[in-house]
Amino acid sequence: MIVTPVLVINSGSSSLKFSLFDMASDQELLSGQAERLNTGEASLRWRSGQQGDTLSIPDEGHAGALKALYQLLLSLDHLPSTPLSIGHRVVHGGETFSDSVVINENVIRAIEQCSRLAPLHNPANLLGIQVMQKLYPDVPQVAVFDTAFHQTLKPESFLYPLPWSLYEEQGVRRYGFHGTSHRYVSQKAVDRLKLDPDQHGLVCAHLGNGCSAAAVRNGLSVDTTMGMTPLEGLVMGTRSGDVDPGLHEYLSDRLGWSLTEITEMLNRRSGLLGLSGLSNDMRTLVEALDAEHEGARRAIDVFCFRLARQIGALATSLGRLDALVFTGGIGEHSAFIRQNVLDRLGLLGFVCDANLNEQHGGNSGVITTSTSTPALVIATREEWMIARDAQQLTFLPIRDN
Ligand code: ADP
Repeated sequence: MIVTPVLVINSGSSSLKFSLFDMASDQELLSGQAERLNTGEASLRWRSGQQGDTLSIPDEGHAGALKALYQLLLSLDHLPSTPLSIGHRVVHGGETFSDSVVINENVIRAIEQCSRLAPLHNPANLLGIQVMQKLYPDVPQVAVFDTAFHQTLKPESFLYPLPWSLYEEQGVRRYGFHGTSHRYVSQKAVDRLKLDPDQHGLVCAHLGNGCSAAAVRNGLSVDTTMGMTPLEGLVMGTRSGDVDPGLHEYLSDRLGWSLTEITEMLNRRSGLLGLSGLSNDMRTLVEALDAEHEGARRAIDVFCFRLARQIGALATSLGRLDALVFTGGIGEHSAFIRQNVLDRLGLLGFVCDANLNEQHGGNSGVITTSTSTPALVIATREEWMIARDAQQLTFLPIRDN
């Protein structure tokens, strides 16, 4: 019997993902996504156990996709037609939100105010919230922010060395992202390694299309690689990560590129794709190494070099290092990248166990030798974490984290 259905909505700029969980049985009942919104070819793909389908949907953007989801829930007899609560992923919570919150008018206004910091993402997230409020007026809704977990960063970590007024008047500072994933995997690592919840230091590397690493001390984020936007830090699929801020003037002088063109290049044509000239997809690049593809080798070398360097820096921010956690598509599935990175981190006491590392294709577990500082793989569950926050904030009075 399904007793606690919680719906999770991740309303992005051109796609919309959803999951329905039964929290009591810890089961994912339904998942899917709507794609190509606002292109005239919108579709909604869903799966529930053995069942699944792809529906073409009337293209009214996000509203059309969410109405199609509403109809789908009414039509699937084995699922509850109405969730008990709804959790929304919201990218930017600025300095206003250091935790997940039940959505009301004040919360909506505050999310709107944070839109200046994430102009592509927050408006799409808000649209998802507002449509769901109309479709399910009696169901409580919760916002879960990518930035919230990193609100424990101290000024020494979150400030850029820029004129102070830019922080005070414009909110220019490091916020950090992927907070829901870092929060989940760091809690799991503490459980799995039986660490003291009040005395530990972890570095978590979330390596997906976007990549970031975080330093978590005693359950709190103390440092992270992404900054004011998700462009700072590690090499990513198409994003550059850290570059010299002098690059903008140089490219503008030499090539006449505008700020918009430079920003587009740094976000969409850099990272693994830019360096390799082949793909933004790590699986494709690792496969291309067999054919001795020079670009793939170059991209993987820079990716691993910079990741290892940042892990070293984050260990310094922690003061103590009990374990390194790999998560996200690359972190969970690429034994090759994990081995490459650990081989660069002997200074921190890491020794990869090749057999254990190969065994953990997507499964959670330790991948280092018994005398090594532990490194482990933990499959992230961001949607489940959003559902759990929604459940706890809307029908359980006490939170357990
Ligand atoms: P997102 O950030 O969009 O959620 P994912 O976490 O799914 O993305 O990660 C996508 C990345 O994971 C891609 O670069 C993909 O190539 C990589 N990946 C998935 N499986 C493997 C694998 N077996 N080997 C190497 N890379 C993999």
